[in-house]
Amino acid sequence: MVQTPGGIDIEAHQDSAALIDRDTDFKDLGLADVLVDACKSLGWVHPTQIQKKTIPLGLKKKDVVALAQTGSGKTAAFALPILQALLKETLPLFAVVLAPTRELAFQISDQFRAIGSQLGVVVATIVGGVDHMSQAIFLAKKPHIVVGTPGRILDHLQNTKGFSLSKARFLVLDEADRLLNLEFESAVDKILEHLPKNRVSFLFSATMTSKVSKLKRASLRNPVKVEVDAKYRTVDTLVQNYLFVPEIYKDCYLYHLLIQFSGNSTIVFTSKCVSGQKLALVLRHLNFKAIPLHGKLSQSKRLDALNRFKSGESLVLVATDVASRGLHIPDVDLVINYDIPDSAKGYIHRVGRTARAGKGGRALNLVTQYDVEYFQKIEQYIGEKMRLYPTEEEVVLASAERVAEAQRAAAVEIREFSTKKRKRDE
Ligand code: AMP
Repeated sequence: MVQTPGGIDIEAHQDSAALIDRDTDFKDLGLADVLVDACKSLGWVHPTQIQKKTIPLGLKKKDVVALAQTGSGKTAAFALPILQALLKETLPLFAVVLAPTRELAFQISDQFRAIGSQLGVVVATIVGGVDHMSQAIFLAKKPHIVVGTPGRILDHLQNTKGFSLSKARFLVLDEADRLLNLEFESAVDKILEHLPKNRVSFLFSATMTSKVSKLKRASLRNPVKVEVDAKYRTVDTLVQNYLFVPEIYKDCYLYHLLIQFSGNSTIVFTSKCVSGQKLALVLRHLNFKAIPLHGKLSQSKRLDALNRFKSGESLVLVATDVASRGLHIPDVDLVINYDIPDSAKGYIHRVGRTARAGKGGRALNLVTQYDVEYFQKIEQYIGEKMRLYPTEEEVVLASAERVAEAQRAAAVEIREFSTKKRKRDE
């Protein structure tokens, strides 16, 4: 266990939630016994910092803007006040939770169900890529909580007879910063029109826009801002290094690192779906059980990839930023930024997959001649000058021939796949 200066313990044995406040119990926050017991049965004895700060406000039905990272226990921070209110007033379509990705929506739903299992809470997960009709049938049964991605929820609001959120008491925007971005602007705005004005709103995000105009769109009523850690920084238990690599030998360096760290669960981040898919194939030809996770895969394939990685069946996940936000992937030992992210916030989200809950973790950044500027910006932002990870070029490049062969085999496979697909489509 690590003792931090603030007297907060980081419990090394905890599987997840990073900062636990051991001086506080859930009961102290004003939660009903049945919910305190529900937390206990999930192994949560003390609240995390964000829970300690947010739950009392939520119970008072205040609008909250909370800055909290995934892994901080933020889901329970908004789920518990909602469930407590639901205890008093068991109404259908009581709360709607919006999330930017399908995976995150599933995760949030799971937590609502886990905490509310003794309360008979019915949760609907409404995301794209899943049969529309079965969702409509489920919505007709009037679930208490609707969790989903904006596009599909809006679709049902507009097209599913009898589905309305006009009586919802709570709105949550998880990963709010992203939901308030251009990508979701139109859907979120339209959903807001379907919600009553006198609702309670919770906005949660690891990073939050300073653009007040954006927040205004969510029409909050005197929101209270809650921050666990105002500065976006990486945790102390994370070791961060960089490697300066020529662009053409990136795969050789990656191969070298994966061998050095074999046995570690690793996420390799790429910036594009196509390069991620290709890289996973290259790694397979190099005998790593690598699986891709990106936005171009079907929903079932994405969940399958995540489950195979979580179960340890595969130790290398090649992911785009789809995986870096909001997903709880426990016990990742190593994050490799094969492509350097183009924003510092993106970097923090990515490396936040490791060194959770006081455990150690490592991030390795492959910096090419083209990435220097971005990389320096990241260093500036997190306030840390990273050290070079030592490698011997000769040793790394000894595998160049093998890697080139794997690249060729992967390229052939991709070509064959595209040809087959074209023929099928014709
Ligand atoms: P989140 O930040 O909501 O993604 O939560 C990350 C993980 O923390 C989840 O797996 C929760 O099961 C876990 N968790 C939430 N609250 C607590 C708590 N008070 N104590 C221990 N673990 C928790």
